[in-house]
Amino acid sequence: MEYKSFIGGAWHETSDSTPNVNPSDTSDILGHAAVGGADDMARAIDAASGAAAQWAKSTPQQRFDVLDFIGSEILARKAELGELLSREEGKTLPEGIGEAARAGQIFKFFAGETLRQTGDVLASVRPGIGVDVTRSPVGVVGLITPWNFPIAIPAWKIAPALAFGNAVVLKPAELVPGCAHALAEIISRSGLPEGVFNLVFGRGSVVGPELIGSNKVNAISFTGSVGTGRAIAADCGKLLKKVQLEMGGKNPMVVLDDADLDIAVDVSVNGAYFSTGQRCTASSRLIVTEGIHDKFVAAVEERLNNLNVGHALRKETHIGPVVDEKQLQQDLDYVDIATKDGGKVTGGQRLNRDTEGFFMAPALVTETTNDMRINREEVFGPVASVIRVKDYDEALAVANDTEFGLSSGICTTSLKHASHFKANAEAGMVMVNLPTAGVDYHVPFGGTKGSSFGSREQGTYAAEFYTTVKTAYTLP
Ligand code: ADP
Repeated sequence: MEYKSFIGGAWHETSDSTPNVNPSDTSDILGHAAVGGADDMARAIDAASGAAAQWAKSTPQQRFDVLDFIGSEILARKAELGELLSREEGKTLPEGIGEAARAGQIFKFFAGETLRQTGDVLASVRPGIGVDVTRSPVGVVGLITPWNFPIAIPAWKIAPALAFGNAVVLKPAELVPGCAHALAEIISRSGLPEGVFNLVFGRGSVVGPELIGSNKVNAISFTGSVGTGRAIAADCGKLLKKVQLEMGGKNPMVVLDDADLDIAVDVSVNGAYFSTGQRCTASSRLIVTEGIHDKFVAAVEERLNNLNVGHALRKETHIGPVVDEKQLQQDLDYVDIATKDGGKVTGGQRLNRDTEGFFMAPALVTETTNDMRINREEVFGPVASVIRVKDYDEALAVANDTEFGLSSGICTTSLKHASHFKANAEAGMVMVNLPTAGVDYHVPFGGTKGSSFGSREQGTYAAEFYTTVKTAYTLP
């Protein structure tokens, strides 16, 4: 399979290509992706810029039909797309199919939103004058996406961008070209005018700056690492370009003495280790009060012993491989750092399976304190640590003592503590007796502090980023 860039309504060859490797079995090469250069990106931006005015004038019905077509096809093909996703990214097949379905649902949601675009009509404070407030498209939006949700994250940026009348240039992550290509192929048959949607493969450091620096691109939505996000925000700041960032997390899961132990273990294991811990919403700090601490740790360790790590497409697998060798090395390094800093580790070693892949036993690091590196820096792998605290007040203080603020969870049967936590957790999303990861597609997603920047993604709140507001005064 050759994954080509899609520019101005045509598939675009490049001389250079890079293999798409299955992390469960490195002998399985799914295809080869084009490695685009700055000139390809410039062409895509020109195509988007040329098509933006026409799409901005499209009717809600035209936009609905396009988005509904894309959503319907993704949903109808969720098993096949989910398998492709699991093969190239390494999450298990049920997780892959679930993510594909979610991408379809996102397009369906925004298809509906095209018919619900409203404004405000107000009376002026001056007599006889009317005021109306409407939303217009931003223009050309550049979308930069990571490898860990290869179809859902592109979907949750592309769908609102198109629904609100913008032209798009998508730059997906290098490790997952297959899903981006499949999505572009569906979009290419959706009835969208040529040039409104463009896909450019290539290295972030090469094609990214062209996208961010272009004066024809009006806004950038980025999901990825903190370092890249900060650099993009600084560049957009200099150009006064609208920017939205979703970055890392060091998400806490607080477990109080009065928690239901089974729920606490389920929620913590799911939040920390499913999708191989490669979610920005993963629970990486388990903050546990002393009365339940030992019971909780023993129960989590027992659960981890019963989880199968293996090939993402096998039925018996609970946890697939890490995405690539570099990420696996980073995960193993953090286990070493945690041990040297005084943590006690169970699991956390590289595993051999009957295929060559990037397998790692889930790691639980106990006896840690919140100032250790393992509790300050995002690992992005199947690694979680336990911090023992004396009571709820200390748990909340530790939960909030981080530079991140994406998702915070608590397991408790106390309404008082749950209510207090919802009000006082410094995070964009709060979960009570639920995993920190795993969110709905129709409500806002995003964080506070170092996790996010700009307005929220998803749900009706996405309008804030993908439109600009116009206030018009009329004296009839
Ligand atoms: P990760 O370490 O998880 O891959 P990155 O932030 O490096 O996170 O990558 C997220 C996305 O940002 C990818 O699509 C990547 O190609 C892109 N990217 C990387 N460097 C740059 C850059 N300098 N400018 C724009 N995009 C970039």
